[in-house]
Amino acid sequence: MSHVFPRHTKATLPTVANGRGVYLYDQNGKQYFDGSGGAAVSCLGHGDADVTNAIKAQLDQVAFAHTSFFTSDPAEQLADKLIKHAPEGIDRVYLVSGGSEAMEAALKLARQYFVEIGQPQRRHVIARRQSYHGNTLGALATGGNEWRRAPFAPLLVETTHIAPCFEYRGKLEDEATFDYGQRVANELEAEILRLGEDSVIAFVTEPVVGATAGAVPPVEGYFKRVREICDQYGVLLILDEVMCGMGRTGTLFASEQDDVRPDIVAVAKGLGAGYQPIGAMMCTAQIYAAIEGGSGFFQHGHTYVGHPTACAAAFAVLTKLTDGGLVDACATLGAELQDGLMQAFGQHPNVGDIRGRGLFRGIEIVEDRDSKRPFAPDRAIHKALKRETFEAGLICYPMGGTIDGKQGDHILLAPPFIMDRHHIDEIITKLQTAMARVL
Ligand code: PMP
Repeated sequence: MSHVFPRHTKATLPTVANGRGVYLYDQNGKQYFDGSGGAAVSCLGHGDADVTNAIKAQLDQVAFAHTSFFTSDPAEQLADKLIKHAPEGIDRVYLVSGGSEAMEAALKLARQYFVEIGQPQRRHVIARRQSYHGNTLGALATGGNEWRRAPFAPLLVETTHIAPCFEYRGKLEDEATFDYGQRVANELEAEILRLGEDSVIAFVTEPVVGATAGAVPPVEGYFKRVREICDQYGVLLILDEVMCGMGRTGTLFASEQDDVRPDIVAVAKGLGAGYQPIGAMMCTAQIYAAIEGGSGFFQHGHTYVGHPTACAAAFAVLTKLTDGGLVDACATLGAELQDGLMQAFGQHPNVGDIRGRGLFRGIEIVEDRDSKRPFAPDRAIHKALKRETFEAGLICYPMGGTIDGKQGDHILLAPPFIMDRHHIDEIITKLQTAMARVL
């Protein structure tokens, strides 16, 4: 009998015993290759002594002090380093405990900004279908994941959703890729005009879509057009890099590759790399100045904001990412992983698309390659794949997504940046075993 709520019961799950490098081990000593870092968390793998030593050293100094009384060296160092590497214009950091908190803070900051600058009529948020921004009510309202939203619909603030930029599913046959990107970006302008030119707070989007669709990058030109539209109508652009940020796509911020400047950007997952729960919401100097020169403080806060131990862990992680060549390794290994996946599954009758950036890769599973028809939901292909990959000793993140109303299945791979080339073969062999059992 387990008292852990809700599903982590001893009856259904093994107990994790330890983790070393790219592997996790259960209580029976079974080894699992951590091919998804949980949900794109463990970018440094497990048991990294630099990070655990940084945590221990901080615990010996002070574990926690509330930010209404003190700042701390780890929080200051982490913020400085994040800003040093952040997208152009990003100047301030708000440190929280995870991704949902970072997105919640982003939404509230965006709204407060317009209140401070005398535009309180701005109240709409626009996001995209097939997106996930967290599970707290504000973040959940923003996300376009229907089954997650459904039970809570009456509690969710109104958010409208436009099309994602999802070439495999959305591009018309006779349409050029660039034109497709412009078409879906222009949906943002149409939605702003529908809601009222000066009534929109923000457009919220993941640069590379994570869990709801399986590592979907934007097409060229999409974000440039999005930025233009945001500028034209004074709408803030909030980029959710909770999953795709912190080096996962081969650059520290995924949006660097799309040459887009966010007003607010959120990161989490890889920032703590699983060693501590932490996230960060970052904004431009302009937004911060409006708050500072207005009411004087951001009307928000959680007890563990700027938690010194979590910040010490994240500073150690970020130092390894930025100063250790690991982000470049992620880009190189990611390209090799893509090649390997293409060779192994590129002609598979049930593989519709293999995509992504860096060590962030998605494989879309379909019943019919030509028509891109997904499997019927009652086949629960993603659940079977999760079971069989786990059985084969590979942790990946298979999910069923909703493809504009239809069910779809994909596998998300997000292995640690410290892996070697030979681990690519291990991932592929184990995936082959699992797929042969399911498909
Ligand atoms: N945004 C994105 C893009 C995510 O992938 C996630 C987590 N899967 C979140 C926000 C929420 O983060 P957390 O689970 O840490 O609250």
